[in-house]
Amino acid sequence: MKTIGMIGGMSWESSVTYYQTVNRAVKERLGGFHSAKCLLYSVDFHEIEACQARGDWERSADILSEAALSLERGGADFIIICTNTMHKVFDRIQERVSIPILHIAEVTADELAENGIDTVGLLGTKYTMEQDFYKEKLIERGIKVIVPGEADRERVNETIYRELCLGIVSDDSRKEFLRIIDGLTEDGAQGVILGCTEIGLLVNQRDTGAKLFDTAEIHGKRAVLYSIGK
Ligand code: GLU
Repeated sequence: MKTIGMIGGMSWESSVTYYQTVNRAVKERLGGFHSAKCLLYSVDFHEIEACQARGDWERSADILSEAALSLERGGADFIIICTNTMHKVFDRIQERVSIPILHIAEVTADELAENGIDTVGLLGTKYTMEQDFYKEKLIERGIKVIVPGEADRERVNETIYRELCLGIVSDDSRKEFLRIIDGLTEDGAQGVILGCTEIGLLVNQRDTGAKLFDTAEIHGKRAVLYSIGK
């Protein structure tokens, strides 16, 4: 079993999901007392969020590259960056380490392809929904990406940073997200990517008829498949 290096803490609320997902996935595959071999380097999200807010992606890339190097030195065989947004600096981190990093949008694209989805809704931070770094990985694979209108993008982004990353899960926000998910479905989405690793804390598959793709779960499960060579 390969050792998974996880760069987490973005936010730590979703690193909990990752830790559970990788361990449950190993247990499901291998049974008994099997659990995931993993290292978690959990950053101080205050520093990362401050870099995002002032547009200092260089500095955030440096912080995450140091984390990646620590994981490599600690014995990780490969890395997952446990957030969608910080994949904006994926290339800069990957070029600093010699072990592979499993890209969250690429493994999500694999999952979409396996489910026959070619038009998908995307919810995430404003960076993920509005910039190209994430959507282009899906578009390259022939997947059409639909995002909510401006007011709803703002609503989703605010909920992520003012509630979910702080561990606040509210019924009002859940209702809003479900309304937005319905809107994406009406616009032609065959499924919706929960493209922020905390959204699964708010909505899950039982809440809606729309097919959801939770990136924290997909990323964690695909990391396990890679780890055990499947
Ligand atoms: N975890 C979130 C994501 O998947 C947002 C936190 C961050 O800005 O990294 O994008």
